[in-house]
Amino acid sequence: MRKKIVAANWKMNLTLNEGAELVNEIFKGLPVLNEEKKVVIAPPYLHIVQTGEQLAGMIDVCLGAQNCHSETSGAYTGEVSAAMLKSAGVEYVILGHSERREYFKESDATVAKKVNQALVNEMQVIFCCGEPLEVRDAGTQNDYVESQVKAGLFHLSDEQLKNVVIAYEPIWAIGTGRVASTEQAQDMHAHIRGVIRAQYGDEAAGDMSILYGGSCKPTNAAELFSCADVDGGLIGGASLKAAEFLDIIEAMAAL
Ligand code: PEP
Repeated sequence: MRKKIVAANWKMNLTLNEGAELVNEIFKGLPVLNEEKKVVIAPPYLHIVQTGEQLAGMIDVCLGAQNCHSETSGAYTGEVSAAMLKSAGVEYVILGHSERREYFKESDATVAKKVNQALVNEMQVIFCCGEPLEVRDAGTQNDYVESQVKAGLFHLSDEQLKNVVIAYEPIWAIGTGRVASTEQAQDMHAHIRGVIRAQYGDEAAGDMSILYGGSCKPTNAAELFSCADVDGGLIGGASLKAAEFLDIIEAMAAL
């Protein structure tokens, strides 16, 4: 079933106390959501057990992680495996974020291996894709994103794909305050859905949740989410302030 989702990516922000306080503030204003609508909170690894305890018993607010390792276990100092995340109650793993691709040199092949790890460990994947500014300026963004989607997901079976959510995040819009227009977002989301349809068929394409990410804020969330192929958002900066994040959740709840 195609879900509406608002997911918080805290990135490398907040101490443990600040994280706990933010979750408490979000709880205070959380609207009632039906089963097709979910909120995901992806704190840094160190917060995961604490945040998981705060979210225990909640059905519509799920625990997320921002990454996992591409191997099952072993001598990878400082890393965290998908099985560890699963054992801590994580339900969604963000993979292929542009910051991971750029700063940690994650290739399409590495991201694909991470997708496998998350799925084998029975978590949902939030698979990120999106083009840099020079690609957008050259007008080749559709091909660029299509190739990321194919490389990261097309090895999956129909069943496995059911546990994947796609997040389209144009790199030029992440943390820049420069948001994609509704037309740019809708065009790309429709393209991604078409790419999924061509490989996996109508039902899989119709069921795929495709989130928009990149300077999504209370002031633009409702408009972006009103696009036919936009099923919610992956939120960075605005997820660190309870009032802003709640406004964005409200925009999704109202759909
Ligand atoms: C992100 O990095 O996933 C993101 C969408 O960031 P921001 O909302 O800050 O642009």
